[in-house]
Amino acid sequence: MIMTSMTCIRFIKKIFLGASMIIIFGNKFRLKIYILILLTSFILPFIIRVLIADEKNNYKYIALIIDDFGNNTSDTQDFLDLKIKFTGAVMPGLENSEKDMLNLKKAGKEIILHMPMEPHHGKKSWLGPNCLLKNLGDEQVKKNILKSLDEIKFAVGVNNHMGSKIMEDERILNIFFKILKEKELIFVDSKTTNKSLAKNLAKKYDLKFYERDIFIDDKNLNIVKQNLVKVLEIAKKKKFAIAIGHVGPAGGKITAQAIKEFYAECKNQKTKFITLSELSRITF
Ligand SMILES: [Zn+2]
Repeated sequence: MIMTSMTCIRFIKKIFLGASMIIIFGNKFRLKIYILILLTSFILPFIIRVLIADEKNNYKYIALIIDDFGNNTSDTQDFLDLKIKFTGAVMPGLENSEKDMLNLKKAGKEIILHMPMEPHHGKKSWLGPNCLLKNLGDEQVKKNILKSLDEIKFAVGVNNHMGSKIMEDERILNIFFKILKEKELIFVDSKTTNKSLAKNLAKKYDLKFYERDIFIDDKNLNIVKQNLVKVLEIAKKKKFAIAIGHVGPAGGKITAQAIKEFYAECKNQKTKFITLSELSRITF
């Protein structure tokens, strides 16, 4: 009978296994060594992998964005002093845009561009330079976006300052998202309108895209803290939540203080504050 190569290999394996068994089980010391090798090589790494995966699944992630940097307001330092990870959204073209951006960088915070966009209601003076207006031509829109990204050079992404009108404008969002895709930047829709077209267009460009879950500011410290508890509840349900607060008159020292107190209170609840780029690297 002619033996095929596969049968031959199987035969050799059986002999080798049998011989090993005789050697191993014929000596108690060798048996212990064998069990030790088995444990360290296969079983322990498997248990560790399962534990790590389980730990990861139990975590709730909060990506906190603080909007409106670039104005060098008196509360800027309160945010820079926070011993917690957050992403600072810096407005372009302001006297203190660069200063605030560099201070955020120095404090180890992540940075995104806070792109000013025309709203349905509100003053144009709240937008600042290089903003996106509905009546701008394609070339000017592109120019304003590129100039702003150039200026906020450490930005890992973008979110919108105001912009209820622009976030409903397919033409401008197409120009915007094409640039973001080319530069591999994240986009966070601040959700200033419930008619935003951003989510669908982001799919078209395969962008790293997120939506704001909750604005946390209030003039009352306890309400800001309650809002942060709501953020935690959202994170429990969908593993992560995106909260937006503000430096300056819209939020300021009260928001910074509430974040500080909330952080101290939820430290042991398996909650992690992460930056946007960290969030974009986690698979849920
Ligand atoms: Zn803003």
